[in-house]
Amino acid sequence: MTFRRTRCPHCKAKLDPGQRIHQECIAPWADAQQAKKERAEAKAARMAARVERAETRRRKEAIKTLAVLKAEAQQAFNAYIRARDADKPCICCGLPLSAGDVGGSYDCGHYRSVGSAQHLRYDERNAHGQRKQCNRWGAGRAVDYRLGLIARIGLAAVEALEADNRVHHWTHDELREIRDTYRQKLKQLTKGTP
Ligand SMILES: [Zn+2]
Ligand SMILES: [Zn+2]
Repeated sequence: MTFRRTRCPHCKAKLDPGQRIHQECIAPWADAQQAKKERAEAKAARMAARVERAETRRRKEAIKTLAVLKAEAQQAFNAYIRARDADKPCICCGLPLSAGDVGGSYDCGHYRSVGSAQHLRYDERNAHGQRKQCNRWGAGRAVDYRLGLIARIGLAAVEALEADNRVHHWTHDELREIRDTYRQKLKQLTKGTP
């Protein structure tokens, strides 16, 4: 049994017996086939490029040092804390967070500093929205920060932070998880707000 084409592959109209394509349809049909082939090739190239980019990303991620991952996790964590506290006053002085800074930006200020308490650098109880000026005062603002912190999280939690002197060595994967978690949390927090 042989296949007999009854309709033109290009214009879909009926063919005469024995005819395979209309004479006038040959050129546009060939063009259409060529265009289809080029689209398929372009798509394959895009897919290959995407795979390569993912592979490059994976390789770059795999060779990141602890210092880089710590910084990335801190950036994500701090951004989340700033968004979380956007509507609150400064933790230490009670002024609006945007007060006194050109552009109204403010910091994520740590109660126990990142440098001296590495294990608390990503602890949500230990970090709050703080005016840049106050954050720059550093230890000079510690007493006021403590009072603001007690008002916000309670004395027991503040004392727990103060008593927490464990030594923690962050691992690469812990830091990746913290970074990704806080990026996600920030996204959820700002979702729906213009
Ligand atoms: Zn035709
Ligand atoms: Zn302040």
